Amino acid sequence: MHRICTNCGSMGKPKKVTRGSFFIEILLWLFFLLPGLIYSIWRLSSRSVVCRSCGSPNLVPLDSPVGMQLVKQHYNPSDEQLKELRSACAK
Ligand SMILES: [Zn+2]
Repeated sequence: MHRICTNCGSMGKPKKVTRGSFFIEILLWLFFLLPGLIYSIWRLSSRSVVCRSCGSPNLVPLDSPVGMQLVKQHYNPSDEQLKELRSACAK
């Protein structure tokens, strides 16, 4: 799913980020089983997608009304291009 950033208007695939560190996760698992488990769950639940350009987590899907509005605002596309974009999103 392509998204557009409400912060900077960048379009495209977002970047996935996972908080915390894999190294600490391993360490916790090795020495303390329960904290390791809690840490793993926390990392999985806090995983999010952010903008590739500015790192903002405020991304909206391109085919949403807000997304379309942002595309018009930032890129000023022709009707033809908008139609292409919509059909690309529908796939
Ligand atoms: Zn951005």
